[in-house]
Amino acid sequence: MRIVTCGQCQKMIHAFDHPSDACLFCGAATSSAIPREAPSGGPPLAHADPALLEAIDQAIGKGQFLGEKAAKGMALEALERAPLCGELYWRLLLADCQVNMDAKLLHIGRPVSEMPGFMSAMRHAGHAEPVYTAIDDAHERLHKAFSATLPGWEREDIQAQKPKEHLTALSAQLQEAVAESRKWHAALDEAEKGLEEASRDFWVAAGEYRAALEQIHQYAEALETPEMISEEEAQKGADYLERLQKSADSQMQSLERLKREHPSAVIFGELTREKAEIISRLTEIASRMDQIKANAAAEADKMDRIAANYARARAALEDKDYSQAMMVAGAQRTAALFASTLRGDLNG
Ligand SMILES: [Zn+2]
Repeated sequence: MRIVTCGQCQKMIHAFDHPSDACLFCGAATSSAIPREAPSGGPPLAHADPALLEAIDQAIGKGQFLGEKAAKGMALEALERAPLCGELYWRLLLADCQVNMDAKLLHIGRPVSEMPGFMSAMRHAGHAEPVYTAIDDAHERLHKAFSATLPGWEREDIQAQKPKEHLTALSAQLQEAVAESRKWHAALDEAEKGLEEASRDFWVAAGEYRAALEQIHQYAEALETPEMISEEEAQKGADYLERLQKSADSQMQSLERLKREHPSAVIFGELTREKAEIISRLTEIASRMDQIKANAAAEADKMDRIAANYARARAALEDKDYSQAMMVAGAQRTAALFASTLRGDLNG
């Protein structure tokens, strides 16, 4: 970590040795930065052991932040020997926040001035002071920008959900389903009525055959228990029984034919099939209505979630913290806001 002047925006910044490091203001790679001569006002690295400094920077670069053998432990060790070194406090701050470059401090969302070690670094800043204050100022500008932009994002997000259109469409679907359901219920009533009529007609027609069959049955019963005297009489009885049997057979056949061919029986069969069809339609409509209601509930949930997230973001912003605002904004809008705010500062 060194203090350099950015070759592009001319700001004083910390440059780190990892290849992804870039100027937090203009985005230029720090490899293009110009090392700066320490001006008067006290060197911020006074008395710090160069080898230990190098080890701390290596650990920070590798993401080894906490622990005795990591950046934090080594920074504390170095501070014991050089307690007036602002740049050591800054390294301690990076280790505590577990970030490997200054730009990432701004992505935490909390004010940099409230981070552990910042005040100590400031107290012993020396010529590094503009670097520290510029980062704290950057947080403040970002906080303002997030506060100003948040309401617009909220409108955008709610608009993107098109809640009105969705709910209107769902309500139209529901009305349609209700109307359809009514129509099929009426059809069901009709079918029931038709079935009742057909069944009545049929039984009137079948009644004739049933009566005839019953009579035959009675004759046959009467014949089975007589005391026959002569063979002739017995033969007569047997003949009669046979005729009864034939008559009964023919009555049965007629009844079967009636069942198949009587108009009311045919209507009965048709209506029974129709009724089954109507019931399956009604079942389908009922499940469609359930789905519409579930969709409407999900829609309302989604809106509630968006509103709750924005409420959280607003509350955090009041506390100078824009981390929640970054979350509702998403990566793309956050990156754009960072770029416009931090670079906009250079123009203004
Ligand atoms: Zn720059």
